[in-house]
Amino acid sequence: MTLPLHTAVAALALVLSDPPLVLTHANVVDGVTATVLRDQTIVIVDGRIASIRPGTAASTAPAGATVIDLGGRWVAPGLIDAHTHISSLANARRALHSGVTTVRSASVPAFQDVAMRDMARAGQVLAPDVLATGVFVTPNLGETLLADARLGALAGGVLTPEQLRVLVRVNLDRGVDWIKTRGTERAGLPDTDPRKQVYDERELRAIVEEAATRRIPVMAHAHGDEGAYAAVAAGVKSIEHGTYLSDSTLRLMRQKGTWLVPTLSTIWDLTQPGGDYDDPVLTLRGQHMAPRIEDVIRRAHAMGIRIAAGADTDYGPESVTRISHEVMRFRGLGLSAVEALATATSGAAELIGVGGSTGRVAVGFEADLIVLEGDPLADAAWLQDVTVVISNGRVALNRLPFGRRPTR
Ligand SMILES: [Zn+2]
Repeated sequence: MTLPLHTAVAALALVLSDPPLVLTHANVVDGVTATVLRDQTIVIVDGRIASIRPGTAASTAPAGATVIDLGGRWVAPGLIDAHTHISSLANARRALHSGVTTVRSASVPAFQDVAMRDMARAGQVLAPDVLATGVFVTPNLGETLLADARLGALAGGVLTPEQLRVLVRVNLDRGVDWIKTRGTERAGLPDTDPRKQVYDERELRAIVEEAATRRIPVMAHAHGDEGAYAAVAAGVKSIEHGTYLSDSTLRLMRQKGTWLVPTLSTIWDLTQPGGDYDDPVLTLRGQHMAPRIEDVIRRAHAMGIRIAAGADTDYGPESVTRISHEVMRFRGLGLSAVEALATATSGAAELIGVGGSTGRVAVGFEADLIVLEGDPLADAAWLQDVTVVISNGRVALNRLPFGRRPTR
């Protein structure tokens, strides 16, 4: 990814000026294996993990380092939310404080995710690392038309392959990392039927082909099976939601290596009062969707389809869904402790294209870390209550003075 030179230099200067950070007495859960490394010292230099060694040998602490004694707490990879809609700095901060250090945006109204990505990278704002997707590739742009003057050409709708290519190109020109489109209608509006197909395979293929001209992958919202099948056949990289997926669609996903991002927590949010969705029609709808999506997750996992966690929220003040809930719910649907944690760490990183740099506690990886009061492999509920959040080697949250005694 290319940054303007002045931005890159500013980012570098900020990172280099941070003193090294040393975490002592940490039990390390790496996000990949079931092994917990006990009583480790983690040294962080220039935003990356420089070493992980047992004990607290004085020689491992570089001069001038800030040392945080974790007193036997657990360190896990910062959480990755593979499906978010964050478009404000306040919400970005709320996500970060919940332990989310990396997000894949799943569309915002006006390219706020692109700006947030660049500003967070330059150290100018406090936000998770962002993989941006820009504006939704959808038939009716509504108010999103105002996101870019070139979208005026699509005021009458985004229906033909050529119109779809125009919208994809505007997103590409604005520097997105992903394209988000849809196979079906939404679940979160009382007047739409989430099973109804929106684009067919030919239209979806135009989107995938146009994005591929700049090697940009496509994610597709799809609840209904026909719309999902068309998206998978067209070559999207992930199906978002997937509530009504049939075995034949799942088989095609396995064959093509398509990921599933079920966003189960948001379906549960439909069933509850408050939260991002608060409507009697959606309460009823959620009650029949929840068992369907759980069944899909069980079948997909049994077939070997890769699953990543997404909370599908904007992390607004009303939001009651968090990525920790997704991991907790996956544990009850056939995923092992390590598999469930990986859906929000190493696995999610692989899906969104940053698997070589984050999502693991390992030497050379970005120091995107969370500190927990208990072992998240023994009980994923510990992920709900992060005590420290470190993003790119910087302490974004530290509640250690108020921490409980860790459960050893
Ligand atoms: Zn969404």
